[in-house]
Amino acid sequence: MRPERLNLLFSDTESLDGVGPKLKKPLDKLGLTRLRDLAYHLPDRFVDRRAVANLDEAQVGEQIVVALTPNEHRLTSGRGPYRVLASDAVGNVCALTYFGRASYTAKKLLPVGELRWIAGRLDQYGQMLQIVHPDHVEAESTGLLTWLSEPVYALAEGLTQPRVAGLIGQALAHLPDLPEWIEPGLLARMQWPAWRDALLLAHRGAHPAARDRLAYDELLANSLALMLVRENNRARRGQPLKGDGSLRDRLRLPFPLTGAQRRSIGEIEGDLAQSSPMLRLLQGDVGAGKTVVALEAMLLAVEAGAQAAMLAPTEILARQHYDTLRALAAPTGVSIALLTGRDKGRARESILMGLLDGSISMVVGTHAIFQDSVSYRNLGLVVIDEQHRFGVGQRLMLTRKGKVTPHCLAMTATPIPRTLTLAQYGEMDVSRLDEMPPGRQPIDTRVVAADRFADVVAGLERHLATGQQAYWVCPMVRESETEDMAAAEARYATLKARFGDAVVLVHGQLRPEDKDAAMERFASGQAKLLVATTVIEVGVDVPNATLMVIEQAERFGLAQLHQLRGRVGRGSEKSVCLLLRGETLSETARERLALMRETQDGFRLAEEDLRLRGGGELLGTRQSGDTPFRVASLEQIQRLLPLAHDDARLLVERDGGLTGERGDAARLLLYLFERDWGAQLLRGG
Ligand code: ADP
Ligand code: MG
Repeated sequence: MRPERLNLLFSDTESLDGVGPKLKKPLDKLGLTRLRDLAYHLPDRFVDRRAVANLDEAQVGEQIVVALTPNEHRLTSGRGPYRVLASDAVGNVCALTYFGRASYTAKKLLPVGELRWIAGRLDQYGQMLQIVHPDHVEAESTGLLTWLSEPVYALAEGLTQPRVAGLIGQALAHLPDLPEWIEPGLLARMQWPAWRDALLLAHRGAHPAARDRLAYDELLANSLALMLVRENNRARRGQPLKGDGSLRDRLRLPFPLTGAQRRSIGEIEGDLAQSSPMLRLLQGDVGAGKTVVALEAMLLAVEAGAQAAMLAPTEILARQHYDTLRALAAPTGVSIALLTGRDKGRARESILMGLLDGSISMVVGTHAIFQDSVSYRNLGLVVIDEQHRFGVGQRLMLTRKGKVTPHCLAMTATPIPRTLTLAQYGEMDVSRLDEMPPGRQPIDTRVVAADRFADVVAGLERHLATGQQAYWVCPMVRESETEDMAAAEARYATLKARFGDAVVLVHGQLRPEDKDAAMERFASGQAKLLVATTVIEVGVDVPNATLMVIEQAERFGLAQLHQLRGRVGRGSEKSVCLLLRGETLSETARERLALMRETQDGFRLAEEDLRLRGGGELLGTRQSGDTPFRVASLEQIQRLLPLAHDDARLLVERDGGLTGERGDAARLLLYLFERDWGAQLLRGG
């Protein structure tokens, strides 16, 4: 249970003054549901203003604070703005300009003849100086100093800066004093403020040390939780699995294994022989050959008298794996079953029976294979494909069936940079398939200006005429799924007009059944062209699809482009990837596209992606998207995570139960950053 001293921080924003249903909605939209979230809603940037005695001292375009006295209110006729003419101490006149509803407040705020302190951006309108919608208008100069550097927060519709700042102020006033969880030596060396001070400072100005400390807290919480999982796992009872090779020897693979595959299999074999359960991540780009590695591990488990299960994220993928494994494992005579949510009645009963009595040695399926109604005679190994769809908490639940914890092999096709691997899979050991099977034809990647659209479509027509299939990935409009969908629908309509029923459309807002149906039509070859938003199913394998067109490629991240391109180049035919680009490209977009042309090495692209995204960051742009962090920026993750990871390891080595003084504080930290699953392992586990 969450420690009591954090309760106030975790109380709902509704408990704050002025928050009713109307404010609640936009706050929730920003993820600000509790006081804690408000306190951690750090400014995106600060406006710096200069106080000037009169307007002669100010530059046009500058953010200033100045004292002005209104002389006259002017409402221009019709829909024009509302203007208040005001003069400074030496007689310069400046218009304070308001549009729309704001003019009502202007009347009250700016009585003629009374001096007002004004903060805003000085602009010029024709010959006249003006400030449009001043940020502050006050009669008293008391609060003035706080205007000189003011936070700018991310907003949602229905919120204003002062509103959000006010609520954050309320939340900050409730911050408890918490004991220090950072190692004192590190704290001193980094000259970091204490937790509470760091939060206060981070909202007050650009304090890199305060921001770093807060980011470090988040990273430490994450590393610590992962480390506790690791420790807990080590202490669990597993079953050592030693195969005699009898089944694996019967495999007749149509190819020799790559060095990376042999090495990974060796590492897995070593883990399986241990009495503590394996927690291993197999990382390998699409097409690197993870399935065979998984098969070898599963066969080993069966040789040792245990059962093995493979979990896939979707029915389609489960079916594909099932077909592949069954074909490959045929010579071994091992019985394999497929179990998904679709199986009902007698068929399902018979599979459940087989798993219970052990007559089925391997099962492939969706979540259905871990439902409570499914019991195994002796489950020794769980393979989880496309790992990143599961959070650590879910992962833990899966492997906690029965008294003996099965070994766990997770597989991901997303090449993650090393630092982020640490953040996401810090509790696991990692095997990397960093060598592609030989004989792959490189994908011919070209960057094409979007105005050659007609040529691209003509090329597509020739391509489809050969009987090969193609993907068309639609422009990413913005963050909004609806707009992405609209763009996809529009492109689908254009292409359908040209290619008729050969075209299918898939996007995130289709019902799952419709999406599956469209995917199946494409996978079976009935449909020739798949138009999609970025949601092309992970791992879907259609070797006959050898052309990929990506529209507005400059808008995608490197990792995403690489993932998308990985859908082609899976067969023996040469594949082509066309990156359509708009007219103007930013420097990093240009670099991204160049890198895509240059290399197909997923690990290299992942590192470059992190570099490009992390490097361009300003203070506090927390677009860390694919990381489990909200406070730490990509740059901070790269700089501070290794430190946090080592620190967490030391702490757990010294005080694994978190019972000492620092351990106690660290426990608070886990709850503060909602790594409850880490903290909960501490009691009995
Ligand atoms: P992924 O890592 O994406 O799951 P797969 O396991 O599906 O990759 O393998 C991709 C393709 O490569 C499959 O057709 C598989 O049979 C083939 N393959 C795997 N290992 C090798 C190898 N060592 N040599 C040649 N082909 C291989
Ligand atoms: Mg795969």
